[in-house]
Amino acid sequence: MNLFITGANRGLGFSLTKQAVKRGHRVYACMRAKNARQEELTKLSDAYPEQVQLLLLDVLNEESIVSAKAELQKQNKEVNVIINNAAVLNESRANLDELAMEEGLLAMDVNVLGPVRVAKHFLPLLTGERKTIINISSDAGSISNTYGGNYFYGMSKAALNMFSEKLRLTYPDIRVFSIHPGWMHTDMGGEKAPLDPDIAADGILDILEGKTVTDSAHSYIDYTGKKYPF
Ligand code: NDP
Repeated sequence: MNLFITGANRGLGFSLTKQAVKRGHRVYACMRAKNARQEELTKLSDAYPEQVQLLLLDVLNEESIVSAKAELQKQNKEVNVIINNAAVLNESRANLDELAMEEGLLAMDVNVLGPVRVAKHFLPLLTGERKTIINISSDAGSISNTYGGNYFYGMSKAALNMFSEKLRLTYPDIRVFSIHPGWMHTDMGGEKAPLDPDIAADGILDILEGKTVTDSAHSYIDYTGKKYPF
């Protein structure tokens, strides 16, 4: 399969890229800037040039999305799977009376409108028998199963889940999932997090490859394929 992944330079995005390469897939690995933290991704791409193609893409910048699309189209590259992975958890304050609205706007812009921008331009490129869009969500976006704090992040992931449902209902020929990847030790998840992002990535790839059976009538699942409550 050919996977298009945003935020592929570190964290879960890099794990997805690395594990997908091990399984023989091709990855269009996006990073938002040339100066991104990307040493490992660059090494992987140098070692597997046929399987890892680096693209510059900032989900805030629609022009960069259009350019990445044009680059792939120029090379007649096929895309079978879109993984909207890039996100921010940027709230510096926990209390309502201290919340900074610009942080809320950024969370919504990156975590919700980012995937919308990518889907807007890349969905028409999807081909193959297993056309899939995965929006990497979070348990923080579950209204019935959430916890206090992180207002903006939780609200952004709940909105992302709504976007997945809208896509699922609008495009019945495309598999659409919002996936909670687990609490992973990445920059975002922190050192105390129990889950290795490579394990989460393998779970997501098993879902993509059809090794894990999923219910196509419910888009919100975890990385093991289990239904998650909205
Ligand atoms: P990290 O913070 O470790 O990595 C985030 C990635 O997103 C980086 O590659 C970053 O790029 C990229 N990114 C941020 N803003 C933009 C942008 N504007 N355009 C393009 N790329 C951008 O996060 P994780 O790997 O932990 O998280 C991956 C996904 O999993 C996210 O959707 C997150 O919400 C979700 N998640 C994570 C959990 C966890 O425990 N870690 C738990 C539940 C969900 P750069 O290096 O340039 O900053």
